Amino acid sequence: MMESNSDKLRGLRITSLDEEDDDEPELPHQPLPAAAAVDYDDDDEEEEAEVMLGFLEKPKHPGLLLRHLFPSKAGGIPAWLDPMKLPSGNSSCCGFCGEPLQFVLQIYAPIEEHASTFHRTLFMFMCPSMACLLRDQHEQWKHNQGNPCRSVKVFRCQLPRSNTFYSSEPPTHTNSDMPLCAGASVCHWCGTWKGDKICGSCKKSRYCCEKHQALHWRSGHKTDCLQIINSSEASSSVLPVVGKVPARTCWPEYQITIEPEDDLDSDSCDENSSKSLVMQKHGKPDDSMQSWMDQFEADADNLCWAYFQERISRAPGQALRYCRESNAKPLWALSAGRPSNADIPSCSYCKGPLCYEFQIMPQLLYYFGVRNEPDSLDWATIVVYTCKGSCDQNVSYKEEFAWVQLYPTTITRP
Ligand SMILES: [Zn+2]
Ligand SMILES: [Zn+2]
Ligand SMILES: [Zn+2]
Ligand SMILES: [Zn+2]
Repeated sequence: MMESNSDKLRGLRITSLDEEDDDEPELPHQPLPAAAAVDYDDDDEEEEAEVMLGFLEKPKHPGLLLRHLFPSKAGGIPAWLDPMKLPSGNSSCCGFCGEPLQFVLQIYAPIEEHASTFHRTLFMFMCPSMACLLRDQHEQWKHNQGNPCRSVKVFRCQLPRSNTFYSSEPPTHTNSDMPLCAGASVCHWCGTWKGDKICGSCKKSRYCCEKHQALHWRSGHKTDCLQIINSSEASSSVLPVVGKVPARTCWPEYQITIEPEDDLDSDSCDENSSKSLVMQKHGKPDDSMQSWMDQFEADADNLCWAYFQERISRAPGQALRYCRESNAKPLWALSAGRPSNADIPSCSYCKGPLCYEFQIMPQLLYYFGVRNEPDSLDWATIVVYTCKGSCDQNVSYKEEFAWVQLYPTTITRP
């Protein structure tokens, strides 16, 4: 089982650009399997779709996560696939507090059947404020009433094999790999968004917004700025190099490695382990076991929670789950707060249907060092739906749809 899975992954790596597979085992990025790559016949339709799990690791070396290597990564700054036409204006800001959004993760997920999706990356951003996420969670139900405000945004970017930014040959993973052109200048503070505003004094330092300019000024640009003015050479040593943005502004950086969920025991939502998980969570019941069980059976949320826990316990470190197969379903933590079909909008570009593609798990908060405090960022899961046809419209970064599921206040994180 494992063997065929890893064969499948290897076959879908970008090295398949070459006709001969040189079987290199240590490629830094692992493209995810495409939906249409697996042809199900009718008999298989009842089977569960194979889910790929994303795990976070410290990058073996930072050069692995640069954009011309098509990385899947979390934290740090985005490796923009289209390095020029970045999302800007309202797209790059929280719909509630108006602050620039923070980079969460990106997944390289090409769909090799279509020329337009030879390269394809999904980018997720979020406002780090829990107050905004709480408002977002309410707002997401209102998408039918015009454009709702969001504090979580996902963008899809795709490129054909032949494009102006990257070689049509796969990266060799040597120092000779280079993008074909430089990207847009980004903010010297966040390293994430386009730096359209320039420091009035040195005319060198760039910012995405006034707030980031002010933060940079207070944290040292006040003195650096004079140096830059007095010496033209200083600017390169004083201004942060693109890609080396101070860690204080970002979540810690990881590379994402993808592995298939071990499906050996997929048919067993082991009742005993589910029960014990629920009991751990709610404490031992005082009533007789039987009456407690009756209540347990009636409580859909408990069941859902138990299944969620059981499913995660197969690989507790999973930070994301990915599956673009047509029978794929999100793994919900709770039965409450799930969208109905009517709550999922259609693609705002082609008007076609959206389908589930991936979800992020609460484990990501641990990797990002988010503490379990009352107003800290927290979620049960955030599920991302993307255009089923992965449509190719005239926008480089197409906004997709995220559904936020929070824990009810009565449920505390274990
Ligand atoms: Zn916000
Ligand atoms: Zn900025
Ligand atoms: Zn300056
Ligand atoms: Zn579409």
